[in-house]
Amino acid sequence: MNAEITTPEIRDVVILGSGCSGLTAAIYAGRSNLKPLVLEGHEPGGQLSITTLVENFPGWPDGIQGPELIENMKKQGQRFGAEFKMAHLTSVDLTGRPIKLSTGKETILTRTLIIASGASARWLNLPSEQALIGYGVSSCATCDGFFASGKEIAVIGGGDSAMEEALFLTRFATKVTLVNRSEKFRASKIMLERAMAHEKIEFISNTTVEEVLGVEEKDVKGLRLKNRATGEESILPVNFMFLGIGHEPNAKAFTGLLDLDPDGYILTRDDVYTTLNGEIIPGVFACGDIKDRRYRQAITAAGSGCMAALEVEKFLEEHGR
Ligand code: NAP
Repeated sequence: MNAEITTPEIRDVVILGSGCSGLTAAIYAGRSNLKPLVLEGHEPGGQLSITTLVENFPGWPDGIQGPELIENMKKQGQRFGAEFKMAHLTSVDLTGRPIKLSTGKETILTRTLIIASGASARWLNLPSEQALIGYGVSSCATCDGFFASGKEIAVIGGGDSAMEEALFLTRFATKVTLVNRSEKFRASKIMLERAMAHEKIEFISNTTVEEVLGVEEKDVKGLRLKNRATGEESILPVNFMFLGIGHEPNAKAFTGLLDLDPDGYILTRDDVYTTLNGEIIPGVFACGDIKDRRYRQAITAAGSGCMAALEVEKFLEEHGR
């Protein structure tokens, strides 16, 4: 028996996710009088909400705190009639029209859908790491690299992301230690060689991070490491830890319903059109990090949210509301 309530109203557009792309889509759809409904998802505000100072978003010469930027975008959407609901998608039916979205409590009907559910950075999930996010622990070198200026830092991971972050961070840090849990590196040969050739980068492999030190001081003081072969523990004295262990796209609900790449990111055509077996799914658009593993910036996510909302407007004009 389905205990969910079906809301009788058919919405013009529902936006999944309240990060930078979803909120930009909400502003544009709101200004087109479409009264968008935003389902805020597991991580309201997305990755910006766990960042500190954002210095590369155009229009903020002195930078802006990530949570404040997100809050501003939300208010801007609300000003134009966007509605927000603390809910996330549990299942979806894209086969008929209207589209049916289930949140576990409610079935929502909509003519169009914008998927902006993003990708979540992978964390080690150590309590000490979680306590120090924004205080010397970061999953975004582009966002927070500047704050590592003049410091000794660690980058965790052994894939291309970790190599890219380590190389980028050599611009700021005095020394970068790359800590890889495996003996072998997953990174491509070229990236690995580039990192290995860099005088500021040192490598530690077969080693896990057991604890980030500095919780009481609210400032990273070092890492307690454990060698996986010998069990030996050691302290790595660093002032910053960057995670470079990859991202998880939040698209599991669309497995089998939309074309995804082998890592689960939504494949799109012409930027924001979704497909299944190469055929466009009418009225279903994807934007932001859920479909972008290349740029992953606040501004590119915002731009793609704008594109998705403009496509929704065009779709509703052509197909009727
Ligand atoms: P990845 O290739 O899956 O590598 C993830 C790394 O993180 C591995 O070293 C893995 O270790 C480690 N890891 C995962 N979970 C961990 C945990 N809980 N604790 C410690 N270590 C953990 O991910 P990626 O580097 O993000 O790359 C993803 C894809 O994007 C790849 O195809 C890559 O080539 C591509 N990419 C390309 C570029 C570029 O060309 N410029 C840049 C970034 C990414 P194990 O090996 O032990 O599992």
